[in-house]
Amino acid sequence: MSAMNSTKTVLDPFGTTIIEDYERLYKEFGIQPLKPLLDRIPNPSMYMRRNVVFGHRDFERLLDAMKSNEPFAVMSGIKPTGEFHLGTLMTAREVIYFQQQGATAFYCIADVEAYEDNKIPFEKSEKFAVGNIADLLALGFDPKQGCIYRQYKEQRVKDLAIVFARGATLATMKAIYGERHIGLYLSALIQAGDILMPQLQDFDGPKPTVVPVGIDQDPHIRFTRDLANKFRRKYNFIPPSSTLHKIMKGLDGSPKMSKRDPMGYFTLHEKPETIAKKISNAFTGGRPTVKEQQKLGGIPEICPIYELCMYQFVEDDDEIVEAYHDCKSGKLLCGEHKERTIEIVLRFVKEHKRRHSKFVDKAREILKVA
Ligand code: SF4
Repeated sequence: MSAMNSTKTVLDPFGTTIIEDYERLYKEFGIQPLKPLLDRIPNPSMYMRRNVVFGHRDFERLLDAMKSNEPFAVMSGIKPTGEFHLGTLMTAREVIYFQQQGATAFYCIADVEAYEDNKIPFEKSEKFAVGNIADLLALGFDPKQGCIYRQYKEQRVKDLAIVFARGATLATMKAIYGERHIGLYLSALIQAGDILMPQLQDFDGPKPTVVPVGIDQDPHIRFTRDLANKFRRKYNFIPPSSTLHKIMKGLDGSPKMSKRDPMGYFTLHEKPETIAKKISNAFTGGRPTVKEQQKLGGIPEICPIYELCMYQFVEDDDEIVEAYHDCKSGKLLCGEHKERTIEIVLRFVKEHKRRHSKFVDKAREILKVA
């Protein structure tokens, strides 16, 4: 279980990680801030410009490869437990961003983790995976410049996990992941296989690889970097780099958007009226009365509506800055802002669904699903 306490933050990829102060992570976990690198990134993504991607591990290595036109890879994926939601949308867009910057892109369907962590049988996760991959393609992933696969079916990933198991003791697994059933330790080894597979000879050998993930997944990065060093002599692996993004708040104001609370999040395939209702009922950083808000202004820093716009749905940076100042000054009221946000979100969802329907057959073909 993850939680913030007065002494130490816990990052837990299998639990609920709540971060109250991102600044503390630099010191506590040796994560590097991304901001100082921004000027060196040729075409920073929206998430990078807005400090949603706030940290990294060893990203300079990837930057050097990008700048000198050397081969590099991006790797991430999705746990197929349901429809695409806002968290998986963010990771997918980050993978596509790096692919568009020249990376060979690897996207895995983490069906072993879905089985071990969520008890989802492979026949069921296969169905979710088809929809998820159609989403990825609809967002712009180019399958000709990448590799999409299922963990359960990818022998190279499983072979790496078998080798890596010799480099991990029970004490190490407990120290990184806490006391867990062996299946979760196995899925961590499989994830290490996912992250390092792009460096196998089948994919033209060792190369800088970036893994864009939410901060709660950082333990996998640390674990895999350690394994890459341990098995360097055998495979010549380069320790993977990462970019780390913040965790979105729930629409109900809870610190983390979670599937456990249906009113706190939405998927890209929910009915438009349901999405509109969830946004309408969302918590805000507004004041109890219009008069007070006009006088004191709202608090965008704690507002999920502001976050929804900034993290996902408003592409123009100036528009975000304007909304921030209008909220702070009391010029923008929550009702109006919610209406505007509903309109933007529904427009996006409508177009996305239209594109998604065109990619379902392709997704089946890629995943070899009948
Ligand atoms: S005006 Fe917008 S950003 Fe400000 S508190 Fe209300 S909903 Fe949030």
